[in-house]
Amino acid sequence: MEHYLDNSATTPVLECVLSKMNEVYTSEYGNPSSLHEKGYTAQKIIEEAKKTILSTLLPSGKNPVAKQLIFTSCGTEATNLAILGFAASKPRNSGKKFIFGETEHASVISCAKHLESCGYKVAFIPSPKGIWDMEKYVQELNSDTVFVSAMLVNNETGAVNNVSEIFRLARAVNPNVITHCDIVQGYMKFPKNLFSSADMLTLSAHKIGGPKGVGALYVSENVLKARALSPVIFGGGQENGFRSGTENVAGIAGFAEAVKYFRDNYAKISSLFSELYDYTADSLKNTGSDRIVINTPETDLKATHIMNVTVKGIRSETMLHFLSSKNIYVSSGSACASNTNSKSHVLKSFGLDDKDIDSSIRISFGIQNTKEDVDALVLAVKEGLDTLSKRN
Ligand code: PLP
Repeated sequence: MEHYLDNSATTPVLECVLSKMNEVYTSEYGNPSSLHEKGYTAQKIIEEAKKTILSTLLPSGKNPVAKQLIFTSCGTEATNLAILGFAASKPRNSGKKFIFGETEHASVISCAKHLESCGYKVAFIPSPKGIWDMEKYVQELNSDTVFVSAMLVNNETGAVNNVSEIFRLARAVNPNVITHCDIVQGYMKFPKNLFSSADMLTLSAHKIGGPKGVGALYVSENVLKARALSPVIFGGGQENGFRSGTENVAGIAGFAEAVKYFRDNYAKISSLFSELYDYTADSLKNTGSDRIVINTPETDLKATHIMNVTVKGIRSETMLHFLSSKNIYVSSGSACASNTNSKSHVLKSFGLDDKDIDSSIRISFGIQNTKEDVDALVLAVKEGLDTLSKRN
């Protein structure tokens, strides 16, 4: 039996998503840009998907405008469009300042470093114990600050920051600042009022049972009015000119289907994650080992589908492979960074020393998980702790 506990890397595709995608691939395969019935139908599928997704992002009572959602090939591309597209929309001015969280996903950090190498002023805000260092942030904010990016849920620790407050402080200093929030790990798991004040939002389908290779960038009316976004991919002018390339119609339809599933089962899913989190924490504690430490964020809110655990004295790769040999799947750090040798920038910012960073694993729950998955995991971690430590 398999125990897949790496759902923050990706999730299994939902049945309802598969059947919707199958229907689109087999019957509604037209190119949305074609000027015949098959094309119109495909275009309609995209419009319907936009309506569904926008209704989960906008403050209640706001009428969605199709232009406000731009489908992309993934969350990474959406973030590149937000950051590089914003920079490209303005005359090059190295005096302008961009502020980013130090524990953002690699897609944000890499764009930030690229801007820095182009001569822009860039500041990174640390997050000890998962909490944005607001003192440092306030020191960095000035009237030259044109862009602030802060993620909702950290993908390695589950820390949830008060992004509304982060964005409010930026607007108090520069009312024209543009704000961006990567909600990939929090989308459909936290209420929209937590992030709806952001000007731009990054989304990804495959963290909620949708297909891989589909993402979206939400842009506020404010961004559109201020012409604060330029495309970074040029071509046939699809997605209102913001993202050229023939749309992934089946993937987009599948994304909307996954969103509907999470919307309709929101309460049930939230309580499942809380239950699994508490059960895992208790079971790890009941092993009686003081070498198992849960790196709990000290943020007011935390995501219960993500748990970061240090198993002291055992390298995470060693534990990962041991667990994998028993068909138990977790990850070390984020999936995107774990195939590189660099130490997790997130856990470093969190305050872990190098040894503990090297011994940390991430457990992340999905809607298919049960307490049996947790039992298998905890038993195997305990076994690993006893047998592997002899060899380490
Ligand atoms: N942002 C966060 C917080 C993520 O966890 C991920 C993926 O792990 C991404 C962005 C990138 O999304 P995608 O895999 O769709 O490029």
